[in-house]
Amino acid sequence: MKMVTNWPNAIAHIDCDAFYASCEAARRPDLKGRPICVLSSQNAIVVAKSYDAKALGITTGMPVWEAKKLAPQAEFLAADFRYYGQLSHKLFSILRRYSPDIEVYSIDEGFIDMNGIRTLWRKPFRQLADEIRQSVEREVGITVSVGISVTRILAKMASESNKPNGSTVIPGKRIERFLADIAVSDIPGIGRNRAALLHKFNIHTALQFIHIEESLMQRLLGRHGLILKQELSGIAVMGLEVNPPLPKSIARTASMGEVTKSRQLVTAHLSYHTMRLVSELVAKQLFTRRIHVFLTLSTFEKRGADIRLDLPSSSLRRIAAAVKEGFITLFRVDESYRGCGIVATHISRAASATPDLFGLSKEDSRQTELMLTVNRINKRYGDCTVSLATIQTVKEKKRRVRFCYPLFIAS
Ligand SMILES: [Mg+2]
Repeated sequence: MKMVTNWPNAIAHIDCDAFYASCEAARRPDLKGRPICVLSSQNAIVVAKSYDAKALGITTGMPVWEAKKLAPQAEFLAADFRYYGQLSHKLFSILRRYSPDIEVYSIDEGFIDMNGIRTLWRKPFRQLADEIRQSVEREVGITVSVGISVTRILAKMASESNKPNGSTVIPGKRIERFLADIAVSDIPGIGRNRAALLHKFNIHTALQFIHIEESLMQRLLGRHGLILKQELSGIAVMGLEVNPPLPKSIARTASMGEVTKSRQLVTAHLSYHTMRLVSELVAKQLFTRRIHVFLTLSTFEKRGADIRLDLPSSSLRRIAAAVKEGFITLFRVDESYRGCGIVATHISRAASATPDLFGLSKEDSRQTELMLTVNRINKRYGDCTVSLATIQTVKEKKRRVRFCYPLFIAS
């Protein structure tokens, strides 16, 4: 195999630790150290949990009643994507200080092209990784794990290997030592089925994986396997998506792993897909105007419904309402389903959205921001210290707008 030098290429992967739960703890210090569960749109299932909640056996996708039985002392909170989006944007603005070339991979994960960064900052990668972690913790109030290596996948595995709040730097010459301790099932893109197949060929570690002969790899995992082998060997084949094109659609769909008539189960799956879709829209600062909801019947027949939103939006409330509307028109009590999904189309950039005439979208974000500020101030100085109108004036001044106008808040 070709020998890789230490830094033929340099990529950093930044991954927030238990992001949604950490966001909640960041605005409510009283939650620190308590198990936190963040719930889906209809409060049906756990979509995220803190490390302490995980230690109690709570898993993502678990129905709320089950989680409450396991950990009645935990805090159960409704997801608030506008707020998570705000913290996510703060995170990425910190990353942009280090390099203009960053990829927003998800709401809480990003890559930085580190080529040339070391000489620019005159610091070793280890120190840069620690500084990124410390800046995010100081300015956003949450912890992240950082991995720096020569390819995208190695950087991701590096950050994963030392969670939470860790820095891991893997230069080319240390790749093999790093891979020797990693199970094939922990390679991104190797799911349960692929891992089982590899085990049959006596391949258990990531190090054994990169030594699979190309012809065998082609047979076992096809082109995907060959790309993984190269990336893991330190040969960068996957670049960063620094300026991704506007997607035509964003889909979240999955088989439910069983055939069911349960309305509750299908709803739970749909609400989970909704959360993941909204988190992607918020992370990438995109809006959708139309939601396609579909159910896959036990016969594999697909049935779908299109719901048009009042305006381009990434609001969880609006999108969840659209999904619910679609679901109601599709679901029949006498049928069995094996899968479901949602597809957002008519995608636009949030930044280029024209202000809507009736202020519908503003009302969404204003309500959230206002409530956050009210909570913060009232927490510090006692309840009802300030009225909503006062806060808005304070906020307006801070932003140094030239014109102040009276605000009417419908509640
Ligand atoms: Mg994460």
